[in-house]
Amino acid sequence: MGSLHLPIQERSEQTEEIRGHVREFLRQEREAGTFVPKCDTWLSGFSPEFSRKLGERGWIGMTWPKRYGGHERSAIERYVVIEELLAAGAPVAGHWIADRQTGPLLLRYGTEQQRMSFLPRIARGECYFAIGLSEPNAGSDLAAVRTRAEKVEGGWIMNGSKTWTSGAHHAHYMITLCRTSPYHPENRHEGMSQLLVDLSSPGVTIRPILLMTGEHHFNEVFFEDVFVPDDMLIGQEGNGWKQGMTELAFERSGPERFLSTFPLLEELVNRLRQSGQKHLMAQAAKLVSRLWTLRHMSIGVAHLLEKGETPDVAAALVKEMGTTFEQQVAEVVRLLLPTSPSVDAADRLDQLLAQSILHAPGFTLRGGTTEILRGIIAKGVIAK
Ligand SMILES: Cc1cc2nc3c(=O)[nH]c(=O)nc-3n(C[C@H](O)[C@H](O)[C@H](O)COP(=O)(O)OP(=O)(O)OC[C@H]3O[C@@H](n4cnc5c(N)ncnc54)[C@H](O)[C@@H]3O)c2cc1C
Repeated sequence: MGSLHLPIQERSEQTEEIRGHVREFLRQEREAGTFVPKCDTWLSGFSPEFSRKLGERGWIGMTWPKRYGGHERSAIERYVVIEELLAAGAPVAGHWIADRQTGPLLLRYGTEQQRMSFLPRIARGECYFAIGLSEPNAGSDLAAVRTRAEKVEGGWIMNGSKTWTSGAHHAHYMITLCRTSPYHPENRHEGMSQLLVDLSSPGVTIRPILLMTGEHHFNEVFFEDVFVPDDMLIGQEGNGWKQGMTELAFERSGPERFLSTFPLLEELVNRLRQSGQKHLMAQAAKLVSRLWTLRHMSIGVAHLLEKGETPDVAAALVKEMGTTFEQQVAEVVRLLLPTSPSVDAADRLDQLLAQSILHAPGFTLRGGTTEILRGIIAKGVIAK
């Protein structure tokens, strides 16, 4: 099963040195009151000031070439930085998508002009991107995408809509999967392209969809005769499906797929330690050992991505197991301790538990549902 062989990465002095710097930075920021640790902040913790501070320290675009504003660090060094930020519940949502997948996509398929224009701004923590895949009738079945862009002099005219678009109300641009050739039922993956849409363009309307917590996190985005210039095509016209699938390996395998509820898990362990409830500690220890396994798998995928491979089956496995795990953290806490979860609770555990419970249904939907991932894993394993 070659597709599921994941290399083990050892810790090094270098990675632990970076870890020390990040922890010290986070300690200072917490003490200064810049942020209060929360669950699921990679999607709902928006702070341009915080993103800029990370950019100044060289913690965005870490693996990218220096000529594009990157820092030429290794994938494992980047991994250490992002896992510390997530574990601390820091507000990283602003730049998250751009750092995780837009940058790598542009490095692989973008033109030199696109790289020079966007990557340095992303790396400074100043330029944010949204993912334009899902539509009202195209979610799991992405080949059903109907948003279309028709060729005109100097560019395209886009019409259609996207939905569940995380952070579109904060983002400057959206990488939009659309049809640049008519839909053919027999060949549904053909004729799609990725266009980089400036969300401040005339004809773009962004409407909020509120979360159960009342937070504004995702959106509906409408395109009415939006002009997209020629130089905003990513890669080749008609190659959008293949390019989009490459992006998904970056999207599915990172530590954000199992650390969304880490601040809650940490609080649970602290409570059990303080109260000396050793018999309950075994339940928490089971969660921690699963977390450790997931972490090794996820680092293994990061290593393969760095080598230019597309470990889509392993990435799907990390996401399936990781998102189920982060949901279960909330369930275990609820069963182990007497709690009164509320987002406004004075008690930290109650607050983190409420955030986790209210965000948890989305964990196994966003980035591909559990059912779809299981299909990919099953097909991938059979194919080997
Ligand atoms: C918090 C959050 C953030 C999101 N952010 C973004 C974003 O930024 N950009 C973006 O483009 N999208 C985003 N999404 C959308 C997400 O990618 C979709 O919700 C997801 O792909 C599922 O699509 P759907 O909602 O249309 O459900 P559907 O595809 O309609 O699925 C409904 C149910 O049927 C099941 N199902 C469907 N097909 C099959 C099948 N073949 N076999 C077995 N079961 C099947 C699914 O597993 C699911 O349980 C986000 C979603 C959430 C929850």
